[in-house]
Amino acid sequence: MQETKSTCPYCGVGCGVVIESEGNAITGVRGDPDHPANFGRLCTKGATLHLSASPSVTRQMRLLQPLVRATRTQAPAPIAWDSALDLAAHRFAGTIAAHGPDAVGFYVSGQLLTEDYYVFNKLAKGLVGTNNIDTNSRLCMSSAAAGYKATLGADAPPACYGDLQHADCLFIIGSNTAWAHPVLFRRIEDARAARPDMKIIVVDPRRTDTAACADLFLQIRPGSDAVLMAGMLHLMQRQAWLDTDYIAAHTSGFAALQPQLAACTPERVARECGIALADLVQAARWFAGVADDATAPRGRTLSLYCQGLNQSSAGTANNAALVHLHLATGQIGKPGAGPLSLTGQANAMGGREVGGMSNLLSAHRDMANPQHRAEVAALWGLRDVPAKPGKTAVEMFEAAADGEIRALWIACTNPAQSLPHQSAVRRALERAEFVVLQEAFAHTATAAYADLLLPASTWGEKTGTVTNSERCISRVRSAVPAAGEARHDWQIALQFAQRLEQHLRPGMPTLFPYANHQASAEAATEAIWNEHRESTRGRDLDITGLSYARLDATGPQQWPLPEGATHGRKRLYGDGIFPTPDGRARFAVLAAQGLAESPSLRYPFLLTTGRLRDQWHGMSRTGTVARLSGHAGAPCVQMHAQDMARQGLQEGALACVTSARASIVLPVAACAEIAPGQAFIAMHWGSEWLGGQSAAGRALAGVNALTTQERCPISQQPALKHTAVKILKVDLP
Ligand code: SF4
Repeated sequence: MQETKSTCPYCGVGCGVVIESEGNAITGVRGDPDHPANFGRLCTKGATLHLSASPSVTRQMRLLQPLVRATRTQAPAPIAWDSALDLAAHRFAGTIAAHGPDAVGFYVSGQLLTEDYYVFNKLAKGLVGTNNIDTNSRLCMSSAAAGYKATLGADAPPACYGDLQHADCLFIIGSNTAWAHPVLFRRIEDARAARPDMKIIVVDPRRTDTAACADLFLQIRPGSDAVLMAGMLHLMQRQAWLDTDYIAAHTSGFAALQPQLAACTPERVARECGIALADLVQAARWFAGVADDATAPRGRTLSLYCQGLNQSSAGTANNAALVHLHLATGQIGKPGAGPLSLTGQANAMGGREVGGMSNLLSAHRDMANPQHRAEVAALWGLRDVPAKPGKTAVEMFEAAADGEIRALWIACTNPAQSLPHQSAVRRALERAEFVVLQEAFAHTATAAYADLLLPASTWGEKTGTVTNSERCISRVRSAVPAAGEARHDWQIALQFAQRLEQHLRPGMPTLFPYANHQASAEAATEAIWNEHRESTRGRDLDITGLSYARLDATGPQQWPLPEGATHGRKRLYGDGIFPTPDGRARFAVLAAQGLAESPSLRYPFLLTTGRLRDQWHGMSRTGTVARLSGHAGAPCVQMHAQDMARQGLQEGALACVTSARASIVLPVAACAEIAPGQAFIAMHWGSEWLGGQSAAGRALAGVNALTTQERCPISQQPALKHTAVKILKVDLP
């Protein structure tokens, strides 16, 4: 048996795994005791990874050879790799020649490794000359990134997991950590056991398993997060609980925030949030860390937060409001204190580091900044890189529906299920003249719309790096060869790019001087990563002191780790200096955004979506592991028992859930976690799991048939948490 150290591909906790393999078969997986994220622990999803790589799953579920469709109504037929890549290059080059570089788009994924992402970003912005590259991370982390930049000046989580051991108060808002980041939740339980006086505040519209561990649970109304935090800040100011020295020395903009704060009186805020005034006061006091004994040192507060703040039309404002609380109380840059956003996907951070979004360039540079564009052009040996803003995730498919984007390349994601307003996305896929899908799994909803399907390697087969929620870079290593004819994601992008160069830059030296064959994957990914590393020199995420060899020798490391540093930095801003023009963190006055959709007479319920404990995203992988269905084997719409009675619905009865966009039918389940007037549907099931495959995989199903495309105006993250619906009993004949 062989053992290979790698990283779990699911959530942003970024647990280390030890893969057990025999020959070309993965036979087991266990937690890596040396990995600083999990110290040997795994959750149910991580512990069953090997089952998703079994020979029978590979045979039945994987895409194992390139396929092409002569027409969209025909079944795809095998095609040789060379022919497939030639065809793709020919079609993309033709579209670019006829309609310009912005007529093509690349939609990638937080599941890609940093090296994969780097090549895709260079392909789009460097070779094609378009900023039309965005990622499914837009659906989970862009509000957190925008919130950090608006306040702290850089997209850099300032705290780390180890801060759990030092915190006196944990403020968990918009995160069901117990289910979505289970191993981190085990660390919270450990910290609580070691320090029983630690206070835990949980804020969520649903009484989740995370809320069950809270000393104080604030069941706020959906969309009232920013108001709640402004009310807490108002109280802190009124009670003289602020750290006025810190505000004066290290921040700007507090005075400009005053009119907004003045309006957020505690009485009004408690009423709007639907909570008791006494609970609001308690939350503000614990967060501020003030003790009854005025001479006692201020307690330390660590915040953990996720999609509940991010997937909102007020996503950036929510994030800024949370950072304001930390700045106003000096709760940042020291052990046990700081805002720590939890990353949804395994490598959403790495994607942002290489600039793999429509508004970014390499190493956290901004596409809108001429100096940054010039730096990246120099790094890539180009005269310039494009300045025109690219399309963000939802915009890209809107542009395809309008005929503006004509050729789409989709890698490692399933937009026909995971983007909001499925029917609009599917219309866009139908209208696009040429759709390439690069995927490991064969049966996703998006596969039904692809002209060309390219088989990609996946977990256990890939090599490279990922970055988790605490800025920690870990190695991903292959234990077995890629299945069938699958190739690595970076390699597919590279081989396509090299062909496209012959059309777009004939006779010129390649922009992609990496070995491109399977046998040299480790050397090629290292060459790509080294180029990325060089792009970070002098930037906030400088990793010029890091190498594959050092990662292999020391294990995972946090950025920044510049040349000469002995180790990565656990937490940022301990010196009170921030990466803003004046070195001060900012209180950002952002316009309050209301709910994307408010309940109305026609659509009286507010629908929220989210994760279940044992499933991951669109279930391409977790859906192949039978034991993971034991926790929840089928989708349902959860409602409060009072609402069910009012609608004449019994437990298990079929209900038709209708939004302004579509209807889906699901069994209903009573749920005491949810307040009256609200409903919840898990995000995981789509048409391929609900029988849609029999109708050519095109039947609308899953919660994103219903959800709204409205988004935060700053981060462009869709408001997936807030959809107005009606729920009616289905009368069976
Ligand atoms: Fe994987 Fe996240 Fe579970 Fe860790 S907590 S094993 S990273 S899914």
